[in-house]
Amino acid sequence: MKIFLHSLVLIFWLFSLCIIITQEQVAEVCIIINSDRPGIGGTQYVSSGLFRGSSAWNITSSIIHITHSHLIFHHLFLLSLSLPKTITSNVFISISTLFDSIPLSPPVPDSSTTKKYMAEYDGAIEALTKLISEKADLGDVAAAKIRQLTAELEVVGSKPFNPDERIRTGFANFKNEKFVKNPELYGELAKGQSPKFMVFACSDSRVCPSHVLDFQPGEAFVVRNIANMVPPYDQTKYSGTGAAIEYAVLHLKVENIVVIGHSRCGGIKGLMSIPDDGTTASEFIEHWVQICTQARSKIKTEAGALEFSEQCTSCEKEAVNVSLGNLLTYPFVRDAVVKKTLALKGAHYNFVNGTFELWDLDFKISNSTSV
Ligand SMILES: [Zn+2]
Repeated sequence: MKIFLHSLVLIFWLFSLCIIITQEQVAEVCIIINSDRPGIGGTQYVSSGLFRGSSAWNITSSIIHITHSHLIFHHLFLLSLSLPKTITSNVFISISTLFDSIPLSPPVPDSSTTKKYMAEYDGAIEALTKLISEKADLGDVAAAKIRQLTAELEVVGSKPFNPDERIRTGFANFKNEKFVKNPELYGELAKGQSPKFMVFACSDSRVCPSHVLDFQPGEAFVVRNIANMVPPYDQTKYSGTGAAIEYAVLHLKVENIVVIGHSRCGGIKGLMSIPDDGTTASEFIEHWVQICTQARSKIKTEAGALEFSEQCTSCEKEAVNVSLGNLLTYPFVRDAVVKKTLALKGAHYNFVNGTFELWDLDFKISNSTSV
């Protein structure tokens, strides 16, 4: 009932406004549609919905900024009945600065809801442009304002990605869909962690082990770096990796360390592309990937006749084996392996074919299991 009454008020108000415009009594008109619908998170944006007939009735609320009109208070009163309180208070606080006080934020990309609203943005630009050509009698000021709005809309529309909004939305989804729904799990994790796995994975954005292996929070202690490499024991050069391995093995007492290589790894391609004379051009990358130079040498010697891409694929797997060997240079890893409290595993995730190979420390890839 309330919505119906508000709609009636809004319709009457819109109808009155059309009359004003027709009578050229308004020199400047801006219509701002405030969306409080889900998926757009309070984003306000400009639309010419008013001039698009039936679509105007779908508008949740509207603000009109009118100058040079003796009917302004009448319309603001009617308007106030159809607006959320927060917006209404803005109207009465400062009419003249109202427009500037409302930010034009781009919608969050990559959701169907957003696509719908982006379509509305496009529609608004189109309709405003059309308005300029069709409503010449609006006057120069109104036309200039509409041009300004059109330009602002185009700027907003050209930058649809908002990183802050993406992060906020991502966390909100996680919190609502997982955190809030699993109080037992997150309650236990708040007390401590006891992961069964330590995982070395590449930093590549396509190979997140939690996604690929469906690890839940608390299941895997993860180190990610270029080409998922485990450097040999070195307290000076590789203290970051050493600290992670020490913590995982001695304190968390993980039962498995898995090193996961992957298809089309840029780090391995970089390793295989280093000229034979050893000259490098990067500040860090080539120096880092040479941790597995032994794998590169083996592939160049044994599979040098293969296509370069095939050599890289072989090296992706061989580099995992080198990393498994390097793990044994850490005394606490070696001790745990000897005591059989820790298992070392190699793996290769192929995101082109959607396959995953897994093998044990014995390096016999022929014994691997494919999924
Ligand atoms: Zn990689």
